[in-house]
Amino acid sequence: AKEAGRDQFCFYEARLTEKAREKMFLETELRTAIAQGALSLNFQPQFDLANGQMVGSEVLARWRHPERGMIPPTDFIAIAEESGLILPLGEWVLREACLQAELWRQAGLGPHRIAVNVSGLQIERDDFVATVAGILAETGLPPDWLELEVTETYMMRQPEKSVRVLEGLRGLGLALALDDFGTGQSSLSYLKRLPVQTLKIDRSFITDLPFGENEAAITRAIVALGHSLHLEVLAEGVETPAQADFLRGLGCDRGQGYMYSRPVDAATFENILRKTTVY
Ligand code: C2E
Ligand code: CA
Ligand code: CA
Ligand code: CA
Repeated sequence: AKEAGRDQFCFYEARLTEKAREKMFLETELRTAIAQGALSLNFQPQFDLANGQMVGSEVLARWRHPERGMIPPTDFIAIAEESGLILPLGEWVLREACLQAELWRQAGLGPHRIAVNVSGLQIERDDFVATVAGILAETGLPPDWLELEVTETYMMRQPEKSVRVLEGLRGLGLALALDDFGTGQSSLSYLKRLPVQTLKIDRSFITDLPFGENEAAITRAIVALGHSLHLEVLAEGVETPAQADFLRGLGCDRGQGYMYSRPVDAATFENILRKTTVY
């Protein structure tokens, strides 16, 4: 029994080590990928629910590892946040997205707004507003072509500071959206003070529409809350026409999801832009 116990312990320890080693491996590989600009961007269109027009797109980071293939963002963003790599990664994504959007703008495609995800760790940096201002100046993208998506989770750690940073970003003339709304723990009084223009209803509420009674009630409440605060409301994860109809019926402003399009690479997205641009 003693022997078996020790074997088991060794097995457990070996597995732990294996997991830790895997994480270290991915972290090192991710560091290299960021330095070499080996990540890429996908774009997922966003639509005006009332008239069906494409109004913007969300930018989503992609990492194809030479041997491992595609690593899901939920995995590598978690590693990036734990290791601090989210700072160079986030800056790379923002610069690359602005460069790309400016190319489209100069080609006469659009008007179009790109929504870039920003981690709470970026918001916490004292130089974040200056970094964003620098990237806008460097790429030449007009600030009103850019929207930043922020989440509540980190902002609740330093609410005062977060409000200041978001106000600084607003001062640059860009738009702000509160991502994954409904999953965080921000109070309504705090929401009122946040200088955001859009609430993004988390996909978890949309999935069970229109038949999930609780989800329908919550979604209806979020749309009403958003509108009473003069915010736009965007639903993510719209997969079916029934969901889109339901959301349109609530007066939800924008929609995004597989029903319209999956996230696609820049070349594919450019073709969509060419078809939808009104000349
Ligand atoms: P998110 O910001 O909530 O992004 C939306 C996610 O939902 C994306 O997953 C998108 O592909 C997926 N999605 C969109 N429509 C549908 C739909 O109709 N059905 C389903 N089932 N899924 C849909 P993705 O690309 O895997 O990204 C996952 C998360 O990784 C993002 O969630 C975001 O939190 C994070 N992420 C991705 N890129 C970046 C980035 O550049 N910076 C930061 N900080 N986070 C990022
Ligand atoms: Ca997002
Ligand atoms: Ca989201
Ligand atoms: Ca999410």
